[in-house]
Amino acid sequence: MVRSHTFEEFAGMVKAFHGSVAPGIMIGGSMVDLALGCLPKEGLYDVICETQKCLPDAVQLLTPCSIGNGWLKIMDTGRFALAFYDKYTGKGIRVFIDPEKLGPWPEIKAWLLKLTPKKEQDTARLMKEIEEAGSEICSVERIQVAVDLLKKTKGGPIALCPSCGEPYPSGRGAICPACKGGVLPYGSGPRGGGRVNTRECTED
Ligand SMILES: [Zn+2]
Repeated sequence: MVRSHTFEEFAGMVKAFHGSVAPGIMIGGSMVDLALGCLPKEGLYDVICETQKCLPDAVQLLTPCSIGNGWLKIMDTGRFALAFYDKYTGKGIRVFIDPEKLGPWPEIKAWLLKLTPKKEQDTARLMKEIEEAGSEICSVERIQVAVDLLKKTKGGPIALCPSCGEPYPSGRGAICPACKGGVLPYGSGPRGGGRVNTRECTED
């Protein structure tokens, strides 16, 4: 079981949301399960994912926390770990895959440590191990989050960027970060690519 779902149900949810039944999300489901089981039921928790790969989607599928509502943050250490913490006190726990517990689970170990090339991976055996192992491959440690450091920056007043003309929080500078450059991988700043007549996009 992953929260109130069977393994198969959860696999269906993952397929619909993520596009494929990624092993990382299936393991992530057990990690979320374990995390919530370690915390008092009545609390309100925020989440930090230490990787942007897969794990955030497990959190978004199984908890009210999402990137969009700000209750889920990604702080990319590259470790397959997540932290749940009380948003007021910062008290919480961190769940991670514990290499010392991977012995009985060779397929999971090979997947996590990339010991076998992906095309030689036995997906059926890997999924069976993930289902059987559940959260047995994880360890949990207590953490204290410095919530002061995570305080949401209030947006502040909005101005129209003198360069591109779009609204942005004026506290970000005299022109918007896009026009300042270095943020976007596509042309930013004074209109580069030319406008599209949106009527052509909506007419059939
Ligand atoms: Zn601008």
